[in-house]
Amino acid sequence: MKCRVCRGPAVIDVRRHNANFCVEHFVKLCRDQVQKAMREWSMIQPGDKVLVAVSGGKDSLALWDILLDLGYDVSGLYVGLGIGDYSDASATHAREFAVKRGAELIEVDLPSDYGYDIPDGSRAARRAPCSACGMSKRHVFDKAALDGGFDVLATGHNLDDEAAVLFGNVLHWQTDYLGRQLPVLPARDGFPRKVKPLVRLAERETAAYCVVRGIDYLVEECPMAAGNRHLSYKEALNVVESTSPGAKHDFYFGFLARASERFQAEAETDREDLLACLQCGAPTTTEVCAFCRLVERAGGHVEPGGPAHGPQPVTLGRGPR
Ligand code: SF4
Ligand SMILES: [Zn+2]
Ligand SMILES: [Zn+2]
Repeated sequence: MKCRVCRGPAVIDVRRHNANFCVEHFVKLCRDQVQKAMREWSMIQPGDKVLVAVSGGKDSLALWDILLDLGYDVSGLYVGLGIGDYSDASATHAREFAVKRGAELIEVDLPSDYGYDIPDGSRAARRAPCSACGMSKRHVFDKAALDGGFDVLATGHNLDDEAAVLFGNVLHWQTDYLGRQLPVLPARDGFPRKVKPLVRLAERETAAYCVVRGIDYLVEECPMAAGNRHLSYKEALNVVESTSPGAKHDFYFGFLARASERFQAEAETDREDLLACLQCGAPTTTEVCAFCRLVERAGGHVEPGGPAHGPQPVTLGRGPR
């Protein structure tokens, strides 16, 4: 197996590109794909302060690493979800990476900052764990980005994630979600600009990127993911991809190029109806936002409007780049 670029020994085959790559050219491929996505969607402007949401897993650490290497002003944001050993281990991976790269890591902990955790929160709110978790993370990400004066919030969603979300949205014809499923969402009152620079990389590639770059990521899956519909959509698409390499790419990028615009009017209408939450000030369609309602039901606390329970920046030591 030879590298397509230099003909040296290859370490990975990327069937979607019908090519093999050595370590050097695979790392270059990953960076190039990220830059291409960022250019195509004008994700990050020169001088932007970027906050990357890090879970300690392969995608978010690969993204943070690539953005640092590309010279962006980027800090990490880790949110402790209170999911037992899984959360402890994920925090350790995020902190170790920050120290190794000498990068700033901002930490927010749901149990200590808001008085609830995801298992209790999901039970109290009678929501599936991933629904309570996704909503909590979105709220904390937005708040941390705005409070910290960041221009952009970057997340590690990869091609597999986006194709699976699209599959679910199409399967159930969630047309309002389809209108919002873009690699960039512009900033507006109460929301930072949100970008997904990994959309051109598959899950297998971000894992391989971490391995060849020596990034120690959390391999374990979250214990609450079992039974999650997103995983079954991923598995279904993996079956298709195994016989038709490139199918996920065509599905997702074909949607962006040829269909997504058709659903945007509906998503815009939804956005116009937003009010400020009476308790925390975040944009919402109801008097009190879903996050504050969940925290209340779970017996936690949200400070009205203020950052009293907001993120505390922690800069971890500088180490070799
Ligand atoms: S699998 Fe679900 S509960 Fe676990 S971190 Fe992801 S969204 Fe949260
Ligand atoms: Zn090569
Ligand atoms: Zn609120």
